[in-house]
Amino acid sequence: ALLLENKVAVISGAASARGIGLTTARKFAQQGAKVVILDLDAQAAADAAASIGPQHLGLACNVADKDACVKAAAAVFAAFGRIDILINNAGITQAIKTLEIDATSWDRILDVNLRGVLYLSQAVIPYMQEQRAGAIACMSSVSAQRGGGILGGAHYSAAKAGVLGLAKAMAREFGPDGIRVNCVTPGLILTDINAGKISEEKMVEIVGGIPLNRPGSVDDVAGAYLFLSSDLSSYITGAVIDVNGGMLIH
Ligand code: NAD
Repeated sequence: ALLLENKVAVISGAASARGIGLTTARKFAQQGAKVVILDLDAQAAADAAASIGPQHLGLACNVADKDACVKAAAAVFAAFGRIDILINNAGITQAIKTLEIDATSWDRILDVNLRGVLYLSQAVIPYMQEQRAGAIACMSSVSAQRGGGILGGAHYSAAKAGVLGLAKAMAREFGPDGIRVNCVTPGLILTDINAGKISEEKMVEIVGGIPLNRPGSVDDVAGAYLFLSSDLSSYITGAVIDVNGGMLIH
């Protein structure tokens, strides 16, 4: 049997062609889910959804905008009559030193990576409460755990660490409603977020510190999201799943 038969899954930040979100959307669809792709640009979201199949939906939604999140969740419910899975995947990074972080950079990075997880969860959870079931997976990063991953600044680490606390608190609060909330903490995954930004020399150095001896692929992360979204993880909530090839073993 398929792992997500008849499930409706909302995935934020899923229009980027080589990103973790779109690969996750494709994997979920292969497991029987109806997928809703949320991203900044309406056309890009619609095209991404269409590339997976006609039964899927793509909508514009800036996750840092509460009203946009509420409207998107309502549109999903209007289209499919339920919301079973939420993947809080949207995120941005910025390579910058701590002493250079000004209010604008701080707000931009925190708004998408952390506030966005709150707002989209707040928009979707009432539907899950009504169903008394739901699975939410949130994107954190190894950067949250080791104080800097590969690219992002301290504000990115802070935002991704904030996601861990937020997700654990939601897991505790909404467990009684049958809603599970978990996180993934990827290491270096090759996507547009880092494409061309890591020198060959640096790459060799990073991979040298990874026991599995390779950078991660978008598929590696999508597999963890699938596990956390399916009944395979039915008794797992408030957990943090490392997807880092052993880069950080703790
Ligand atoms: P990506 O840039 O391909 O994907 C990010 C997507 O989020 C894009 O489609 C972008 O348009 C969208 N987005 C940006 N701001 C948004 C907003 N305000 N509202 C809605 N959508 C928005 O990069 P990716 O590597 O696939 O990143 C996915 C997630 O994985 C991010 O949260 C990132 O921080 C996280 N992450 C990536 C790595 C890595 O090495 N690639 C490691 C750890 C965590």
